Amino acid sequence: MNDLLSKIIEKNRHLTSKGKVASYIPALERVNPEYLGICIADMKGKLHLAGDYGQKFTLQSISKTISLMLAIIDNGTEKVFNKVGMEPTGDAFNSIVKLEIISPSKPLNPMINAGAIAVASLIKGEGPEEKFNRLLALFRKICQNEKLGINKEVYLSEKETGNRNRALAYFMKDVGIIDGDVEDVLDVYFRQCSIEVDCVDVARIGLFLANNGVVLETGERIAEEKVAKTIKTFMVTCGMYNASGEFAINVGIPAKSGVGGGIMAAVPLRMGIGVFSPALDEKGNSIAGYGLLKDLSEELDLSFF
Ligand code: GLU
Repeated sequence: MNDLLSKIIEKNRHLTSKGKVASYIPALERVNPEYLGICIADMKGKLHLAGDYGQKFTLQSISKTISLMLAIIDNGTEKVFNKVGMEPTGDAFNSIVKLEIISPSKPLNPMINAGAIAVASLIKGEGPEEKFNRLLALFRKICQNEKLGINKEVYLSEKETGNRNRALAYFMKDVGIIDGDVEDVLDVYFRQCSIEVDCVDVARIGLFLANNGVVLETGERIAEEKVAKTIKTFMVTCGMYNASGEFAINVGIPAKSGVGGGIMAAVPLRMGIGVFSPALDEKGNSIAGYGLLKDLSEELDLSFF
């Protein structure tokens, strides 16, 4: 397996020069675009590694999967989906346009920024710190990594420049999707996006979802099987932004990308995959990461369609 991973890393390396690192969050711009790494965590608990798998990056939108899980654990499915929809959108991840024109005015799904901010508002806890710490504790269990924390520079950079997210959140407060203090809600969201991980952590998130809500290494069930399946379904329909349909055809596995350059994939009952390469295509997906997953899916016959 490690030979296969090294082979597909070399095959896709040229793609790292094709995309652009995210620059709308200033701290994300300061990364070497040539990084390319992969980790597979299999159902025997074994890790398969190649390239820059130990390089750190921030979770960004990948965090939306587990924050949704915590919001459902805290509130139940019905309450969460009263505030956020279940439908894919052809718009960009940070688009504002549909919020106003659809009725009722709720974000279309929890994988776009508006939906994820609404989800963050549902996490229980005294203030933003406690809410975020509950989410971080969940990530630490799932990733089997007690050292997991945030990249402060990225967090502060997002907090300072996240005006589009602020606009989404204040609009949602106005129409009653979000309760409470908007800046506190945004603080939880900015922190979750800034959690710092490597490919191994991300592969373990994928493995946990592939294993239907049970941490493979400890046997602890964190979420009901149905909740894990709901999240994987969102990954299929909305996980790769407005390229999710094309990704389903080309790769055929549930995946969630983030503008930090990571992609987390969960192959049901087979494996979790974490890939990282920070140069993005115009839709915000890691261009070489996408290439790695496409080749891996073909080589190991991973598509479930
Ligand atoms: N923190 C990023 C934002 O809110 C997350 C976007 C992403 O990874 O898609 O813009």
